[in-house]
Amino acid sequence: MDTAFFVAWIEEIAHVIADQRDHLTKLDAAIGDADHGANLDRGFSAAREALASADPPPATPGDVLTLTGTTLIRKVGGASGPLYGSAFRQMGKTLGDAPEVTPAALAMALEAGLAVVQRLGAAEEGDKTMVDALAPAIRTLTAALEDTPADGSYGPVLEDAARAAAEGAHATIPLLARKGRASYLGPRSIGHEDPGAASTALILAALSTTAA
Ligand code: ADP
Ligand code: MG
Ligand code: MG
Repeated sequence: MDTAFFVAWIEEIAHVIADQRDHLTKLDAAIGDADHGANLDRGFSAAREALASADPPPATPGDVLTLTGTTLIRKVGGASGPLYGSAFRQMGKTLGDAPEVTPAALAMALEAGLAVVQRLGAAEEGDKTMVDALAPAIRTLTAALEDTPADGSYGPVLEDAARAAAEGAHATIPLLARKGRASYLGPRSIGHEDPGAASTALILAALSTTAA
């Protein structure tokens, strides 16, 4: 996966988030303040534009993710902006200046991104947050990499990771929120999918689409 792949991933995220903006907003209306769709649409469109207009253009996959993270922090308020922004920046830093990223390196970068989200937000799995989609996706990715075909085709592996993220997001429905705005609702947060887990599943789905 090279620089163009990572630019294509961010473009695909921007596309999917814009498409699902109203759905994310509806999820956040149920247990938050109804801005998650708008927040992420604003952030990822800005990231796409920042990548397109950067001079000089991003030279490595790490540059692409770092610029994306910086833009998200700048453009997205609320809880999700700093969390997603710091995660993308950390992924960029972890990839360093490598011109090509292997699936194993991507898994390590995602793992480092998750660690930052958990350091900043203090959410554990089961607290009904984006962590509930990201953590199982990384576990699936790491496990699947152990039997990646010798030809190195990683499309099916990323598909499995995206499915794990979607299942993780769906599994937040019966959970009680313990972090973020939804936690103010107490037991009334039960019965709704967490918006941040849903958007993380979209981000992983976009990764799989980009690799297909
Ligand atoms: P806000 O809640 O400030 O309006 P958003 O609506 O954009 O921000 O994002 C809400 C999402 O952020 C939640 O659905 C949840 O997944 C995620 N989130 C909130 N707090 C935390 C946290 N402490 N750790 C991890 N994720 C969190
Ligand atoms: Mg919100
Ligand atoms: Mg808000």
